[in-house]
Amino acid sequence: MREQILGLITPLTAVVFMATLLIMWQRGRMGRHVLAFAVGYGFFALGFGVTHLLPTDSPLLFHTSQLFYALASGCLIWGVCDRADVQLSLPALVMTYVGAALALVVAVLLSSDAGPRLVIVNTGYGVMFVIGTVTLLGSAKREWIDRFIIAALAINAADFLLRPSLTLLAEGAIPVAEYRESIYYSVINLILTVKALGVAMVLIGACFVDLVNNVRDRGNFDAMTGLRMRHAFEREVNARLTIAARDNLPVSMVVADIDHFKQVNDLWGHQAGDEAIAAFGKLLGSMIRENDLAGRVGGEEFCIFVWDCHGDAAARLAERIRVAFSLTVHPALGDGICLTASFGVVERTARESYHGMFARADAELYRAKNGGRNRVAGEDAAGQPDRPQQADQVVTPLPRGQKAANA
Ligand code: GH3
Ligand code: MG
Ligand code: MG
Repeated sequence: MREQILGLITPLTAVVFMATLLIMWQRGRMGRHVLAFAVGYGFFALGFGVTHLLPTDSPLLFHTSQLFYALASGCLIWGVCDRADVQLSLPALVMTYVGAALALVVAVLLSSDAGPRLVIVNTGYGVMFVIGTVTLLGSAKREWIDRFIIAALAINAADFLLRPSLTLLAEGAIPVAEYRESIYYSVINLILTVKALGVAMVLIGACFVDLVNNVRDRGNFDAMTGLRMRHAFEREVNARLTIAARDNLPVSMVVADIDHFKQVNDLWGHQAGDEAIAAFGKLLGSMIRENDLAGRVGGEEFCIFVWDCHGDAAARLAERIRVAFSLTVHPALGDGICLTASFGVVERTARESYHGMFARADAELYRAKNGGRNRVAGEDAAGQPDRPQQADQVVTPLPRGQKAANA
């Protein structure tokens, strides 16, 4: 009786982890991988429970526990791969389980020794964890917690592949009827408990790291436009400047500012102004490439860091954005009202700093404003100042009766 109760510690611990992960998933609105972790611990609890409670001579004992442990391992492996954005081969996992399940059927039919059965099922789990480890190694995520997860998977793989044979070498044959009295059974209970605890710590730790990163990202991104705010933008650009210098890549910067924005606020109110800023930010975000960066560096002032791009191509990008914005309708400002923006563009000179680039791009923006607004000013690739491009017919429109201010 005492042993029966002690044997329930492991499945109950797994139930506690399942509940903790379920609460984190539901209350913390975390990703589906956290739900997969919770379900995985649920299956672990069932596997532990079945192993401990079913009669040892039950023909179902090994098959049922194998199914639950394989489902548990599959959920955990799928969860960590989903979290790391890598594609796990589910057919490979399923085929591994099916292969091990068929081999187990043969072993159960042929022998009443528990040894071969244990080697077969554990080899199956081991191969599943090897597949998970290899898949995870292909992920770009390499924070310290990601390394812990890879290590946890690799340790599980090694344990499943080596422990059964080593324990059986020491113990010899285990008649199925005496399975629960074997050294093997005590060792496996101890190791499974330690592994369940260790893996749960790593997974729950990963959930906390993800939550903290989410909060940090929320602090770095502007809610109105979805773009990086000044400091985060500067930090990211500085990191990219180092890479660009190392790889000898051209990079350019565009600074953009909405024209006559004070009037927008004065005429249509702050709320409408906010909507126009949001529209401009989202337009910038949608028109840059994946490797470019855009940030809101001031009230209605934005900056684009254009990756692997010379100044003339960056100026063409700015021109496309200028035209698109000048044609954007802003419902909050009333019928037919469009706004314009001015742009300054520079290409980085050798080893130039963020502040150096920004100051020059800002000076170009100033030139564009002085040149009549609604235009792009920039340098060509040789560093010679271009003439500001001519504004087309689109001007900053004002409501009927207002004096045009952008002439
Ligand atoms: P210019 O063409 O020379 O750029 O003229 P401007 O009126 O746009 O001048 P400036 O860029 O200096 O004006 C910025 C204005 O933007 C001042 C401020 O009232 C307004 N502003 C700054 N942040 C926000 C914001 O978050 N929401 C709104 N609605 N207005 C803002
Ligand atoms: Mg402005
Ligand atoms: Mg401004």
